[in-house]
Amino acid sequence: MVQFCPECGSLLRKRKMEGIAYLICKCGYQEKLEVDKEEKQRKIEEKKKELEKNLIIVNEDDKVSVHPTVERICPKCGHNEAETWQEQTRSADEPSTTFFRCLKCKKTWREY
Ligand SMILES: [Zn+2]
Ligand SMILES: [Zn+2]
Repeated sequence: MVQFCPECGSLLRKRKMEGIAYLICKCGYQEKLEVDKEEKQRKIEEKKKELEKNLIIVNEDDKVSVHPTVERICPKCGHNEAETWQEQTRSADEPSTTFFRCLKCKKTWREY
């Protein structure tokens, strides 16, 4: 897109300074190219979304391999950190069972 200087009518030249595009005239007039800025912002947003997508994938992997940790008093040693997960019991109409495993002594117990 060609733009002309509003001051003198000359053709504006595009120039980049510190990553920001400006339209510059030989008479000294200059304006920021907002279009480029928006484009840049959009690219940042796209990149962010991409990163967020990756984050979600990483989190899903975490769920598979590592159980979340909750505050639970271990009935064996009294430690108050346990990892927890749920398992569906054999018959589908029964509620799933929540398991806890003490992070300290590795004792596993369950709650219904
Ligand atoms: Zn000019
Ligand atoms: Zn324990």
